[in-house]
Amino acid sequence: MPFARLLIAACLVLITAWMPPAHSETTTQRAMPETMAMLRYAIATQTVEGKDQVPAFAQYLAGKLESAGFAKSDIEIIPVEHTAALVVHYRGSDKNLKPILLSAHMDVVAANPADWQRDPFKLIEENGYLYGRGVADMKTNVIAIIETMMRFKREHYVPKRSMILVFSGDEETDMASTRELAKRYHDAEFLLNADAGGGTLSAQGKPVVYEIQAAEKTYADFKLTVTSAGGHSSEPDVPKNAIYRLARALDRVAAYQFPVQHSEITLASLKATGEHNTGPIAQAMRAFAANPNDAKAAAVLSADPAYVGQIRTTCVATMLDGGHALNALPQRADANVNCRIFPGTHIASIQATLTKAIDDPSVKITVRPPPPVESPASPLRKDVVDAVSAVVHQRYPGLDIVPGMSAGASDSMYFRNAGVPSYGVDPTFSKPNDTFAHGLNEKLLASNVPWALDFWQALLTKLSQ
Ligand SMILES: [Zn+2]
Repeated sequence: MPFARLLIAACLVLITAWMPPAHSETTTQRAMPETMAMLRYAIATQTVEGKDQVPAFAQYLAGKLESAGFAKSDIEIIPVEHTAALVVHYRGSDKNLKPILLSAHMDVVAANPADWQRDPFKLIEENGYLYGRGVADMKTNVIAIIETMMRFKREHYVPKRSMILVFSGDEETDMASTRELAKRYHDAEFLLNADAGGGTLSAQGKPVVYEIQAAEKTYADFKLTVTSAGGHSSEPDVPKNAIYRLARALDRVAAYQFPVQHSEITLASLKATGEHNTGPIAQAMRAFAANPNDAKAAAVLSADPAYVGQIRTTCVATMLDGGHALNALPQRADANVNCRIFPGTHIASIQATLTKAIDDPSVKITVRPPPPVESPASPLRKDVVDAVSAVVHQRYPGLDIVPGMSAGASDSMYFRNAGVPSYGVDPTFSKPNDTFAHGLNEKLLASNVPWALDFWQALLTKLSQ
């Protein structure tokens, strides 16, 4: 999630059409005490790696759903290694329609209480913010979706299209439960992921833009290895020196620039960000969106580390290791090169490009395990974009709704890889770099909770009818 808003983080232009939240007072307010009680329980359940609390948390959520009227047979907890996935079926009336998948993750990143200002595993509300590990990433949405399902069930809502909750239990680490879910549930119309996309507020708290995440760059690590016979350092054999050869290879990687690429998603995203900002970068965004062959605009964007990834595959050295003694010639030197690959480009072609750029057959280039997962960009479906826009505009009329490509990977990666178009539609609005997701003192504006209930109910009603 922290990468999802990278592109729009620079937006600071205010939307004049600011309106206070207009949620349906009665049902949402009635749902709030139950929602907050579940969120309190969720934050207190330490679903971090190593504590094996995800199965118990999934069991708790299953119990809540059953109490609202879900049949036991419609709820499944799939144990996967030390964690678990939760699957919930909300049956639609038309069996010929493929289901909508709803994705979220129940695990959180580790948090050391000694380093936090407040107990990370206690939900605390202070000055309009909720604090606790997982309030932003992403237990608020987990609970808001569960509460929405409970409300639907209690109101005897019958959708035309089935909905299936596919909640993973190790998104932040191995994603083994995600792989299991994608293996079982890929025959779907599309997937909505609550862990990506979302709204950006200005520093003053005014809404700036809402992003629907429709693509993710592919993550891959390449290992560069150089070996040599070694020997006594008093007898240096400079041309064969493994460290020198690796250094030369890395220098060539640094100098190489992958070709400029674009998609309907990145062009729309750059156009909107450009229109919300002023200055040379914003001008280059607008120029590139209008004409992706504009080399000058591409050069300006490529020079900015925050935006180069939106128009190219990027590869960068991240780790280095070599030699075995201060007074010996190195027998081995290796480095890690981390790549963020433009959707649609294959790993093999990136490896071939690196091999050509390095141009030294003595440098061995291998893909580090686990094997990278290629995930194509999802086509911008009109029904999804229209429904999300309508719901967001109920709260913020006229707000720009923009598709986005994020630099990091979410559960959507495995579903897109399995052929399911996937859309990141996190309802929450935050200021840039304000939630500290994955970091210390994670927080979320408390006003997001009733809004998330409104959002999920309205969106899922629209899309399942
Ligand atoms: Zn997340």
